[in-house]
Amino acid sequence: MNAEDIFIFSRKPVFQTIRSTSNLVEPSFDAFFELATKAYHAGTLIQGGNVQAFESALAKAHGTDFCVSFCNGLWGMVLAIKALALPNKTEVIMPAMTYRRLADIPAWLNLTPHFCDVDPELLGPTPEAAEACLNERTALMLIAQPIVKVCDMPAFEQLAKKYDIPVLFDSVEAGMGTCRGRRIGSFGEAECFSMHASKLINGFEAGYITTNNDELANRLRLLRENGLCKSGSVAELGLNARLNEIHAAMGLVGLKELGHQIELNRERYKAYRNGLVKIKGVSIVEYDETEERAYKNFLMKLEDDWPFTRDETIRLMHQDNMLARPYYYPPLHTKKTDYKTISGPIEHADVVSLQYILMPSGDFVSLEDIQMITDYLNTLRVNASRIISKIRQ
Ligand SMILES: *Cc1c(COP(=O)(O)O)cnc(C)c1O
Repeated sequence: MNAEDIFIFSRKPVFQTIRSTSNLVEPSFDAFFELATKAYHAGTLIQGGNVQAFESALAKAHGTDFCVSFCNGLWGMVLAIKALALPNKTEVIMPAMTYRRLADIPAWLNLTPHFCDVDPELLGPTPEAAEACLNERTALMLIAQPIVKVCDMPAFEQLAKKYDIPVLFDSVEAGMGTCRGRRIGSFGEAECFSMHASKLINGFEAGYITTNNDELANRLRLLRENGLCKSGSVAELGLNARLNEIHAAMGLVGLKELGHQIELNRERYKAYRNGLVKIKGVSIVEYDETEERAYKNFLMKLEDDWPFTRDETIRLMHQDNMLARPYYYPPLHTKKTDYKTISGPIEHADVVSLQYILMPSGDFVSLEDIQMITDYLNTLRVNASRIISKIRQ
């Protein structure tokens, strides 16, 4: 690839169609349609056979006793926090860099998000950072996993025990992985997952919570059904947040095909790693291959000697139809919200949030595409002065 091939000189994008950073898996249509048809004819469009099969398959996959499904990740997490937050406490600790709408979740319960710093290597929260935010108002720790790496989950469990404050993991980005050899899903009080179409498993829209605590699982089941008991009386304020049979069918098929998908993701990861290692100024954030990983996302670090800013790099890539995205930017403690938030001591998040780019990923990105993407970055590097004089004029 030459400088002439890239959009700012050719006015033609390198990729004809968009390469995105979302997973966007389409599981087998026939298998999905078969399960959806079964639900249709059974007449149970909510909480029927597919939802039950789905919940047991997920509990098994995560090595947990219980899995409770929801219409999406957000309401599942709201209800889990409602069930777990210490009474009469007002703050929820969460990392400053994470899913951009995560702070809304405690806000729906009138709890105040309290942001902790992230570690510059992990790109996620450490027990030390969370501990620095703990105080007599802390109701719960909502520990969201970073992308690529995994938090020290046992250390968070110890912290939770030490202060007697519940820890809930948002493990959306760590799905189907392990931490110190133990399956992710059974750490802390519970763990939350999303199956939005862009996530590891595509359920159109869906979410679920895994736990070994049967009391919690029962309470979550009640909360997702408007807080109604079997007798029909209201036990407590809940939501209509159930998963439906059609979305469960989609998720079930996705789960069945996940092993194959992870193999392909791993090939993509290797292609990025092999391509990026040859380019001065960029590096890939490495997966810990001694643990189980889903290899869903590819995160590139811009080193100090990379000639372009993060935003320039992303803008160039966008023009050539690579929808690269900044990693969890802007950090949550810098964002305006219409509810109150609190920021703990933040030393790294502001710097780290300017250094990383999420690369195109998912089922529609081929190994040839990745070769093109890394060639492209190399072309940027080799022709940097010419490109810079064009874009900064
Ligand atoms: C997507 C996501 C959520 C929310 O899940 P939805 O199903 O979209 O509501 C929560 N946490 C993280 C880390 C996410 O990526």
